[in-house]
Amino acid sequence: MNKADQDCANVAEPAETVEGPRSRQWADRYDHVHMQVFGRPGRVMDHGQGAWIWDIDGNRYLDMLAGIAVNALGYAHPAWNRALAQQAGKMAHISNFFASRPQIELAERLLELAQAPDGSRVFFCNSGTEANEAAIKLARLHGTRMGGHPGRILALTHSFHGRSMGSLSLTWKPAIREPFQPLVPGMGFLPAGDSTALEQAFTGEEASDQPVVAVILELIQGEAGVLPLEPDYVEKVRELCSRHGALMILDEVQTGMGRTGHWFAFQDQSLSGGACPDVLTFAKGVAGGFPMGGMITFGSGPSGLLTPGTHGSTFGGNPLGSALALTTLETIQREGLLERAERMGKRLRDGIAACGNPLFTSVRGRGLLDAIQLRSPCASKVAAWCLDHGLIVNPVAPDALRLAPPLIIQADQIDLAVDILSKVPTRLGDVDSPQGDR
Ligand SMILES: *Cc1c(COP(=O)(O)O)cnc(C)c1O
Repeated sequence: MNKADQDCANVAEPAETVEGPRSRQWADRYDHVHMQVFGRPGRVMDHGQGAWIWDIDGNRYLDMLAGIAVNALGYAHPAWNRALAQQAGKMAHISNFFASRPQIELAERLLELAQAPDGSRVFFCNSGTEANEAAIKLARLHGTRMGGHPGRILALTHSFHGRSMGSLSLTWKPAIREPFQPLVPGMGFLPAGDSTALEQAFTGEEASDQPVVAVILELIQGEAGVLPLEPDYVEKVRELCSRHGALMILDEVQTGMGRTGHWFAFQDQSLSGGACPDVLTFAKGVAGGFPMGGMITFGSGPSGLLTPGTHGSTFGGNPLGSALALTTLETIQREGLLERAERMGKRLRDGIAACGNPLFTSVRGRGLLDAIQLRSPCASKVAAWCLDHGLIVNPVAPDALRLAPPLIIQADQIDLAVDILSKVPTRLGDVDSPQGDR
């Protein structure tokens, strides 16, 4: 290629991958039989490999969302596939009347990775919302033990903790919460980052008859648009919880399992200020695409609250999920994916910051949980354009794009994503554009 051709290649629009006839036909069938909770699917997919995924018309996409921060190892990782076949060939499910070696090894490994002290424990379930339900039940028992009445559990504004009634009661966004009122009583919200309001919640008038028994927070508010909390604020939560005997619950459903370049986000001083939780919930990435969630309690205090018969799960900790989680964690370790998440995240943020697209005003995040701030509320249009040009990104807020690729992503794939994003036409950011935002 001569110099002129190279320049030309650099300015060329990325290849088009618009919705093909098969995907359209299957999406129509989808619409006909599924509840309307997710809208029409962007594409109907067929298979993936690493950070790539193909739709049923054969179009290829670079996946910078990874099933919403789930597919840590990408698609069809050989180690994951092998573990799946091996464990499925032995036993997939046995109920919690019995235990299996993968489940026990997984619990041991999680406690080790979380650097949890002696007496810490793990509970397994199947999703993020369920993990938080377990934490809520634990907090209720804790409250009753503390003061003879359940007290209040507080979450932060802009939080997302899930869609089941308990977790939803602690989820901020009014549009998804309010239609389902009345919700669970004894819960409330604190303005995120406001230390004075935090102090007031623990010491003010309301605290004397309804003491705060737990605070639940995300160190990076993922669904709100990848918004990190200030470490000073997190330390303040820790301090007040300790002083008043309340539980500090960290929802690491999105940030855990290597996503931010650490096993858990609280191990990143720049997020936690060094604060350790009493309770940590996880899900999303833990089993690399198999549905699994869980809760870790730190130390013997919170670990002793749930007793036989008080909680449970039919599927939780089943041997198939446990084997896949063990393999996912082993592979993250063996392939150095924590360090890669940190390095690739930096490459991505630096690339975006330098790409010169005037639609982008800033970029933020840790490791491979990142977001681009847009000049105007055009995120849906930008994401649709990217999809039509072979790149999956997520319009997490009207004016922000979330980027959460698999942890195995390669440098040239990061560069390709930046290249496509650099070419997003600025006209999409024109809020008066006749297309409007979806
Ligand atoms: C995704 C998410 C949840 C809910 O997880 P599900 O598996 O969808 O129930 C809860 N908390 C956080 C922080 C999340 O990102």
